Amino acid sequence: MKAAVIKKPGVVVVEDVPQPKPGSGEVLLKVEACALCGTDQRVLSGEKPVDVSIVGHEITGTVTAIGAGVPKIRTGQRFIVQTVIGCGECPMCARHRENLCEKGFRAMGYQFNGGFAEYMVMPKAAVDQGCLITIPADLSAEIGTLIEPLSCCVNGMKYIPLEDSEHVVIFGGGIIGVLNGLVARARGAKRITIMDVSATRLELLKKLALPFDDLVNSSTTDPLTWVKAATGGRGVDAAVVAASVKGLVAVGLNLLRRAGHLSVFAGFPKSDALLSLDVNRIHYYEINVHGANSSSQEEYLQARDFIVSGKIKGEALVTHRFPLNKFNAAVKTQSDPASGSLKIVIIP
Ligand SMILES: [Zn+2]
Ligand SMILES: [Zn+2]
Repeated sequence: MKAAVIKKPGVVVVEDVPQPKPGSGEVLLKVEACALCGTDQRVLSGEKPVDVSIVGHEITGTVTAIGAGVPKIRTGQRFIVQTVIGCGECPMCARHRENLCEKGFRAMGYQFNGGFAEYMVMPKAAVDQGCLITIPADLSAEIGTLIEPLSCCVNGMKYIPLEDSEHVVIFGGGIIGVLNGLVARARGAKRITIMDVSATRLELLKKLALPFDDLVNSSTTDPLTWVKAATGGRGVDAAVVAASVKGLVAVGLNLLRRAGHLSVFAGFPKSDALLSLDVNRIHYYEINVHGANSSSQEEYLQARDFIVSGKIKGEALVTHRFPLNKFNAAVKTQSDPASGSLKIVIIP
């Protein structure tokens, strides 16, 4: 089979590799589609080390072979893949919060070969945990790949009472900012503002006609001044940091009304993760601060329901498709701000 194989940092070769066979308890998927993610770029460049040479974790696939001892799964069934695999034994796994596994979770495309290949094996631990999540027969494979990143946004916002929110500000107009905004919309937030420092990026969101109320260029408009004017000085109900700029955590905190919610979706380089904050703001305003680290099954099911019900429409988000043998062109397109790409999907 063909696969995009990482040879060394920055070098990926699409080549023939032996097609994997499912062992006992395992399932073989034919990859229908696998989307490129910002994290993949960090892996491919060598910034984020992984244990495998085939990555890709936003996957839609069809079962083509099943190892011994796998009940309930049949060939021909279509699934999307839950990325995270917990130890199954720690207190967080016992609560089905595998994304917070106290032993450190393993993940498809990081510790097990991923979806930038014609076929991939779901290991027994993933099959046993229920990482194969069913999708309707008529859901398009490329839209299916959105369920993984969407589930992470569902997770990052799950403690925010969006149904009662007047106004949510999201920093970052990339796919993750957009998906956070779409979750806020689907859950009933009344006004949603996307802020980004790139005029090109904001133009793209406008062109795609995404259902947001304001697109604000935060390189030319001060976020705090804008929010004060937009909310009569009161502040917004929630702010989401979906751009890896740590200073935005402090900015987001200052945008909030009393009892507001701050979701720190983005991660920051380990070497540069300290920040000084006005903690009295958290204290006196009773601010709620939330983290976001991947997702567990509950969030996948919610994300799938948003997509399948049409509450979140994914069609406009997939801007580019590439065959597997054009993998390097896809990576280049994703990293080029002028390419007009939001989500790029590889179709093996
Ligand atoms: Zn991802
Ligand atoms: Zn665990």
